[in-house]
Amino acid sequence: MTGASPAGGGEAERPIPAVLGADLQVPVKGGRLVGYANLDYAASAPCLEPVSAAVTAALPAYSSVHRGAGYASQLTTARYEQARHTVRAFAGARPDDAVIFTRNTTDATNLLAGCLPEGTTTVVFDTEHHASLLPWKKSVRLAPPAFPGEAVRAADQALAAIDGPKLLVVTAASNVTGELWPIAALAHIAHRHGARILVDAAQYVPHRRLNLTALDLDYVAFSGHKLYAPFGAGVLIGRRDWLTDGEPYLKGGGAVRSVGDTTEWHDDPEPRHEAGTPNVLGAIALAAACDALTATGWTALVHEEERLIARLRSGLAAIEGVHELSLWGDDHPRVGIVSFTVSGYTAREVAEILSSEYGIGVRDGKFCAHPFLQHLLGKSDGGCDDDTASAVRASIGIGTTDAHVDRLLEALRNLTTR
Ligand code: PLP
Repeated sequence: MTGASPAGGGEAERPIPAVLGADLQVPVKGGRLVGYANLDYAASAPCLEPVSAAVTAALPAYSSVHRGAGYASQLTTARYEQARHTVRAFAGARPDDAVIFTRNTTDATNLLAGCLPEGTTTVVFDTEHHASLLPWKKSVRLAPPAFPGEAVRAADQALAAIDGPKLLVVTAASNVTGELWPIAALAHIAHRHGARILVDAAQYVPHRRLNLTALDLDYVAFSGHKLYAPFGAGVLIGRRDWLTDGEPYLKGGGAVRSVGDTTEWHDDPEPRHEAGTPNVLGAIALAAACDALTATGWTALVHEEERLIARLRSGLAAIEGVHELSLWGDDHPRVGIVSFTVSGYTAREVAEILSSEYGIGVRDGKFCAHPFLQHLLGKSDGGCDDDTASAVRASIGIGTTDAHVDRLLEALRNLTTR
C-alpha cells in the first residue's frame, strides 16, 4: 500500500503515507538476506513517516507540561493539548467528552474499570481480548454468538436481567478474526436498558473511521502502537461523569488541586487520571498518526486494504490443509486480519518456518483471547502451553504489498505439500 495514490473518494487529499522500515532486510536460512514481509500489523503497526517527523520536530524543545512558565514547557503543553484535540476529532467525540491519555488500550479499560459506579455489572462476550474481558469486578460473560443478531439478542437479555448500573463491553473489530461487530445496534440496546457501552477500538481505528458521536458510544479505547505510532500512548474517550467521580487512576502530582491535611483531587477527568509526567511525545505521535490517516482519507485506505485482504483470503481458501478461523462466516465484513491453522503443524512451527525460511513475520498463539480461541478451535481449555489450541494470524495495513501476500501464500503452499 505504501506510496499508492488514493483510489476514489473525494475526501482523500494526500497519497497514502509510507511506513518506516519498509526496506528492512532480514536473515533467512542459508545466510541470505530478504526483504521483511511484515504481516503482523495487528500486534503493532510500523511507524508512519509523518509520525516520525512530528516526533522529531518535538524533540529539540520539550519539558514537563502544565507546570512551567518556561518556553519549552509552554510549547510542550500547547502540543500536548493540541494532540488531545486532534484525537478527539479523529474519534468523532462529543465536545464535552473526556479525552484521557493512557499507556494503551489495556490501561484505558482498567482506568474505566476503576471508575465504575459502585455495584456496576459488566456484560462482556467471551470473544473479547483479555484487555476488555478481565478488568471488571463483577461481570456477566456471554458465549460467542452464532451470528451478529444473536450478539444483540444475548446482550438484550443479559442487560434486561441486571439491576443497578450496567456496562456493555464489546470490540469493534476482532483481533482474532478481524470481523466487525454490530456496535451501533449494541449501543442502541445498551441505552434501551439504561446501560452504557465501552467499545474496544484497538483493531478498528487503524482500518475504519470511528465516529463515537454518530455511533452513540459512551466510551472508546485504543492504542497508538496499533495506529502507526510508536509504543507508549493510548486513549480513553467518553462521558465525563463516571470519570469525574471515580478514584484517581494514579495518585500523584498533576491530579491534585491541593494537598494539606486532606487531599483535594481535580474534578476534571483529564488531570484527575493523568498524574505524573505524561508521555507527551507518545501523545504527539498518536495525534500525528490520526492526522495522517485523516488526511489520506478512509476511502483510499479501506479500498486498498479490502483488495489485499481479499487476495490473501482467497489464496488461503485455495490451499488444502489451511483453515481460516471465523465466527460469522466467510462473507461477514472484516478488517485486514485473518487467523488460520495448518494441518499437520502447530501454529508455532508454521510461524517459525515462515520467519526463518521466508522472512515473513506473523503472530502465533492465542492472541490474548483464550476463551475465543478455544471456541473457534472447538477445544476445551488446553492451557496456555497447549500448542494445538493456537493459531497463526496474518494482519495487513499500510506498507503491505501484493508481493508480501503472495510470498505468504507461496510459503504455505510449499509447507502443505512437503
Ligand atoms: N483490544 C484488542 C482488540 C487488541 O487487539 C489489543 C492488543 O492486541 C488490546 C485490546 C490491547 O492493546 P494494548 O496491548 O495496546 O493495551
